[in-house]
Amino acid sequence: MAPVGTRAVLLRAHAYGETSRILRFYTESFGLVSVMARGVRGRSGKGGMTLATFATGELTAYIQRNRDLQTMKDFACIRARSRLGSGVTRFAGASAVAELVVAHADQEPNLQLFGALERALDELEDLPDDRVVTASLAGAWTVVEALGFAPELDGCTRCGRPLADDEVGRFDLAAGGMLCAACGRDATGPRVGPIARAQLRGLLAGRSDPPVTHERRHLALLSDFVTFHVAQRPLKSFRFLGDLMPDEVEG
Ligand SMILES: [Zn+2]
Repeated sequence: MAPVGTRAVLLRAHAYGETSRILRFYTESFGLVSVMARGVRGRSGKGGMTLATFATGELTAYIQRNRDLQTMKDFACIRARSRLGSGVTRFAGASAVAELVVAHADQEPNLQLFGALERALDELEDLPDDRVVTASLAGAWTVVEALGFAPELDGCTRCGRPLADDEVGRFDLAAGGMLCAACGRDATGPRVGPIARAQLRGLLAGRSDPPVTHERRHLALLSDFVTFHVAQRPLKSFRFLGDLMPDEVEG
């Protein structure tokens, strides 16, 4: 069997035995791929292969369809993104984006998802500290959209009426989007006004500038949405990211 090459992002690495690792990649050509990387740990490891989590590189592997674990031949790192390991909030944001990809991606290639993942990690690597949380939210929402689950923000999910620019509605988790003020009167979802809605639109477009206000409420909405529609369970890394956020004064 001939090895194949693809651009890939390393999402997770687990030690296996004395000298090996099991690596989880999101790849451009094969979607989510797990590989056994033999002999990459320890002093006798294959010289200098950079296998940092969140790195992008050219993965060469023996890939057989219908197998869950493939065999790695080589990983040539193109971008290590070493800064993601040096700041806890950057790391939490990158972990959230990676956990989201692992939770739902499959072995079909998805170029939009690959692009969203790389862009999110690049932003988390490059942006100044005050934009890291917003970049994490934006990265996660663009991944959600690439997975096919974007929320409906412009029209009411119950009556179909477009929301007015200044209208305060509610977010209906099960319906996956907004309720207008009238339909939302008897609903229990979080109130979402025009500013939060505009910020959500910006996050879905991948914008982290300007930073969002009420980071915690944005994270809670994202986390609830992902739990309901994408992962069917709360993601640990969203909670980790929330633990790093300063408390907000309610108002
Ligand atoms: Zn309505």
